[in-house]
Amino acid sequence: MSDKVHILGLTRPELEELVLSLGEPKYRVTQVFMAVHQRRLRSFEEITDLPKKFRERLADVAQISRLTVETRYISEDGTRRYLMKTGDGHPVETVYLPTENRDTICFSSQSGCALACDFCLTAKLGMLKNITRGEIVEQIIIVLNDVYGVGGETPHGTNLVGMGAGEPFMNFDNLMSALRLMADEDGLFIVPNRVTVSTAGIVPKIYEFARIDDRPHLAISLSATTDELRDRLMPINKRWNIDELLTAAKEFEASLRRGERFTLEYVMLGGVNDHDEDANRLAGLIEQYQLQRVKINLIPHNGAEQLDYRASTPERVARFKNILESRGVDAYIRAPRGRDIYAACGQLAAKAA
Ligand code: SAH
Repeated sequence: MSDKVHILGLTRPELEELVLSLGEPKYRVTQVFMAVHQRRLRSFEEITDLPKKFRERLADVAQISRLTVETRYISEDGTRRYLMKTGDGHPVETVYLPTENRDTICFSSQSGCALACDFCLTAKLGMLKNITRGEIVEQIIIVLNDVYGVGGETPHGTNLVGMGAGEPFMNFDNLMSALRLMADEDGLFIVPNRVTVSTAGIVPKIYEFARIDDRPHLAISLSATTDELRDRLMPINKRWNIDELLTAAKEFEASLRRGERFTLEYVMLGGVNDHDEDANRLAGLIEQYQLQRVKINLIPHNGAEQLDYRASTPERVARFKNILESRGVDAYIRAPRGRDIYAACGQLAAKAA
């Protein structure tokens, strides 16, 4: 692997140090920052407003690109999955989800995942590595350039979801600092209000997250209403159980901004967690922990050969939703996207097909 510094991962002060160390004046810092983040240029050579000598010096010590796109898959529904590789040879997957009036990019926070959720294909990879700050930013740049051309305007802004491979809260510092970089007005300018991160329930980090101003929105993957079942589906529950998780969720709720809500995600597994009793227990938990600003996203399970689960039937999902609603809980059904190219929730496992 190259020992050059990955320029997309540098904060402004770090970039300043680099620029000054190469004997350049301070105003070059913003110029370089804008070239790589806002104009999304992919090589120093292309930054033609910089002196040639400086460009060469930069290229000697730094690089813009640490990710290579191995394959791009395009779904019949327009979803795109990018299978990339890091400089040190680990897979990174990013998904582009277009809808009529907005784009969403789903990025990965880890290569593989350590959490071993039984219904998730990414878990089968095991934990490979934490994705660096620069590699998080670069995922977004690669997708935007592919869709809109290098530096091309994005017609309706970009929403980000940290719902790709990995557990974002197990790579907390890289995640949060990458999001800060991406919020920069001279860069991608994707503000926290357009970002949602999802956690399987790393409880101490939920408390930490709640204390950060300018943080993105939060989703928590629950997927079971008893510890017995959740222990089995999501082993992280043995570390922090439902009581600890929902206590943290309640505390997090207190930190929400005006009008903001948070999400509980519930993967619907046929015959496993989709009975009427499950729906009633879920509504009961929301009452018990007095969660008032929560909505439930019901995610029909996305299957794969190596997974021993099947999706709940549409009728089951609808009934589950009705029960929740009849008890005053807002619930939405998340339509699967990109299943045909292994781009849907829980399907990111560096698959070639
Ligand atoms: N590790 C974090 C971020 C991943 S988000 C988390 O668990 O929240 C991915 C979402 O997809 C999670 O809500 C997860 O529960 C869900 N998921 C995992 N496998 C799935 C599958 N096979 N089908 C549908 N959803 C799945």
